[in-house]
Amino acid sequence: MSAAEDSVSLCPVSREEAHPQPTDSQSSTPTPMDELFDLDPTEAVKQVSSLLGCSPTSENVSHYFDKHDKLRHLRGNFLVPKIADLPPSDLSLVDGSEECIYLSGNSLGLQPKNARKYLEEELDNWAKTGVHGHTVGSRPWAWAENNIEDLMANIVGAKTEEVALMNGLTVNLHLLMLSFYKPTQTRHKILLENKAFPSDHYTIESQIRLRGLEPQHSMLLLSPRPGEDTLRTEDILNVIEKEGDTIAVVMFGGVQFYTGQLFDMHAITKAGHRKGCFVGFDCAHAVGNVELKLHDWGVDFACWCSYKYLNSGAGGLGGAFIHEKHKDTIKPALLGWWGHDLKTRFQMTNVMELQSGVSGFRLSNQPILLVCPLQASLEVFNMTSMQALRRKSVLLTGYLEYLIKHYYTEDPAQPHKPYIRIITPSDPQQRGCQLSLSFSIPIRRVFQELERRGVACDMREPSVLRVAPTPLYNSFSDVHRFIETLGKALASSSS
Ligand SMILES: *Cc1c(COP(=O)(O)O)cnc(C)c1O
Repeated sequence: MSAAEDSVSLCPVSREEAHPQPTDSQSSTPTPMDELFDLDPTEAVKQVSSLLGCSPTSENVSHYFDKHDKLRHLRGNFLVPKIADLPPSDLSLVDGSEECIYLSGNSLGLQPKNARKYLEEELDNWAKTGVHGHTVGSRPWAWAENNIEDLMANIVGAKTEEVALMNGLTVNLHLLMLSFYKPTQTRHKILLENKAFPSDHYTIESQIRLRGLEPQHSMLLLSPRPGEDTLRTEDILNVIEKEGDTIAVVMFGGVQFYTGQLFDMHAITKAGHRKGCFVGFDCAHAVGNVELKLHDWGVDFACWCSYKYLNSGAGGLGGAFIHEKHKDTIKPALLGWWGHDLKTRFQMTNVMELQSGVSGFRLSNQPILLVCPLQASLEVFNMTSMQALRRKSVLLTGYLEYLIKHYYTEDPAQPHKPYIRIITPSDPQQRGCQLSLSFSIPIRRVFQELERRGVACDMREPSVLRVAPTPLYNSFSDVHRFIETLGKALASSSS
């Protein structure tokens, strides 16, 4: 972007106002636009509002952020639903032709525009060439997933050989646990959060039973301190330090699905390793959301789904990671022909030539129809970097936090006014893009009123809304529109 373009603002300010001459005092020197995104979000909002001469809550601030967001063009690679097409919308309240306020990327990411194109290519390929599609065409089905694993590896901070795209998340977690969970008399526990995602909880429970052990004795569940919503890193590390000798596997989420807390995966990994435990992460809510360095952190194994922040569509292809240090020692418990070396796989000798590392864990031939949408999304991620996305994300979510606090902090002078407590940690290092908002009033009516006005977000009764402005396709205007709509929803749900 040229300097001239950069100084154009959507807001009604002149170029001189946008770039005032430096004055005598150092502190009043304006922050160059490039560094706006590196400021503390509250500071950034204040600087922009004073620059524009508007209130910090004005929509002009959101437009200004959008104007200077170098990643804003990425939204154009996705299909954003129109309000009129969302089933709960009430067109007597809002303009149905507008794009909806989509804050559900933590649940199901938006459709990448190229998904349909790639799917049609493979449907055509199938229609026209039948079985030849296995080996010919632009993405031969027999190794289609291999062609996008380098794109995937970039996003999780892994080497390509450490990543396999296959199955669904829960299936992959089971496959990994079968190899990494080797309980002994003394070391038989699995450490996880008390409120882990249900599927993870059931996986661990059943893995323990499968070994003839009792979840009651072998499942070590970690809860926040009384009165607190999130786990303190020190408490996680303490438990590992104290109980580590009896822990076989530390199995944590990367980002907690309910609270939005980002765990210190590096510290947890180091602590687990000091005590001789394997350490694995379910990265379902972390992948495509925060920067991951699975290889550098020395994480033993990880798995994730691809339909949340990775936008591959419901039930999309899952991902698995095994660190290269285990490539010759950790073997799959269950074998299938897709774990066989590709070069000789189709000779059908029934003599296994097992691929090393995570590749040996492959079982079935991959569903090409799931590879297509995932490829479309990973290509968009690879137009930028997780580092750049994260930089935007910290400001985007910080902006949301700023506005929530501005309007909905508990006010003792107005005891009947609804207020919001943010469960998600306020430290950007301890969260991704999601904020979990706990309302002082029952949430169902408010949620319905939001939905009628074109907001897509997630409700957890009795009182929590989860909103996830994703840096890949959400704008600062989306955040501002959400706050405006929330005001209307609260007003009409109390009337
Ligand atoms: C979304 C999610 C799942 C879902 O598992 P699937 O096997 O893909 O249905 C499991 N665990 C966590 C932590 C999740 O966030």
